Amino acid sequence: MRIGRSAALSDAGRRRRRNEDSFVREPPLFAVADGMGGALAGEIASRLAATALEEAVHAGPPIDVVAAIREGNRRIQERSLTDPAAAGMGTTVTAVLVGEETLSIGHVGDSRAYRLRGDTLEQLTPDHSLVAELVRTGQLTPEEAEGHPQRAVITRALGTDVNVEVDFLEVVAEPGDVYLLCSDGLTTMVGDRDVRSILLRERTSLEAAVRALVAAANAAGGEDNITCVCFEIVAGPSPAEETGELPLPPAAATMILPAEQAVTGWNDAAPTDTEPTIVGAPTTPAQTVPAAAPTEPPLVTRRHRRHRKLPYVVGLLVLLAVAIAAGLAMLSRVHFVGADGRGRVAVYQGVPWELASRLRLYRAVYVSPVLAAQLSQPERLRLFDHGLHSKRLALSAVRAFERELVR
Ligand code: CA
Repeated sequence: MRIGRSAALSDAGRRRRRNEDSFVREPPLFAVADGMGGALAGEIASRLAATALEEAVHAGPPIDVVAAIREGNRRIQERSLTDPAAAGMGTTVTAVLVGEETLSIGHVGDSRAYRLRGDTLEQLTPDHSLVAELVRTGQLTPEEAEGHPQRAVITRALGTDVNVEVDFLEVVAEPGDVYLLCSDGLTTMVGDRDVRSILLRERTSLEAAVRALVAAANAAGGEDNITCVCFEIVAGPSPAEETGELPLPPAAATMILPAEQAVTGWNDAAPTDTEPTIVGAPTTPAQTVPAAAPTEPPLVTRRHRRHRKLPYVVGLLVLLAVAIAAGLAMLSRVHFVGADGRGRVAVYQGVPWELASRLRLYRAVYVSPVLAAQLSQPERLRLFDHGLHSKRLALSAVRAFERELVR
């Protein structure tokens, strides 16, 4: 058993100016890291994690994947303490080391490792994410979690805790297996079912597979950086050198979209122009009222009917206007605590709902430097309880953590 072909591709997506993901494609080790933090910090964090893993491979066997992840964590912490611009940065990491018959996986955060065996796709790693936590404690259903505005918020990351807990798992590999490592920029945009069909369709070329996966995430909105690393296990003894089919070095395979296609800050995930659509959304019922009857009655009767319907239409429009006004007044008063696309705790005005995945009934009114991953699990469950509060209460809950955690 040995590693066959491999391919990797990282893309900034369609909404982010920068690509904060990093990946490692150094057989026998593959990894993805998804950085977070302000300015350049996310890129620095994910790169530090990737470099620690690459160095472990270059140092030669035996490679300890968990020790290499912990080394990355140590370096990120060290950098956070000495470089104010990098304070509070963090990264996920999902690393797979291919051994003789087993794969050793080290994992922190919400990047994922998948295995395609036959035509079955299986997620091997658990998500260390707020939404996954809320599902496990019964506060959200898996369906609610799928379109949840805070699905990108992670609860465990490198860089936030000296003693980071690293999940370690071993899986037995078989010839024919295809493994996919990816950042959440893929999985929040493309469901497992589509990931599976793309991998099955493009199985003969892993390079085509990673391109198709990235393209699918961009076609679905490309709201975050997208990174995919694929490799296959084949029968036979390990050759001295396996070049794979993608001749480009990892850096050359990285594509960054032009800056004009991106917007900055948290608002990359919620452009301000979505707000007026809340007002426009409920107008559909009014448009459906004057629908033509299937058989054409005489002109006089039609006019007569239209007159009789007029008071109802006016009444309906008035009701609608009242409902919209009440809805907007309610949205402007309620606040909840959540976390933005970069994992920072934030106070939102409105309710934590999205309509048709594009219309958001909330907007950030305050973004804190505190990362959700810096809080303990009980603290997170308490803070992100989805209760609606006044702005003052929501802000004071967040500020209490700031006093404790911000250096
Ligand atoms: Ca991400």
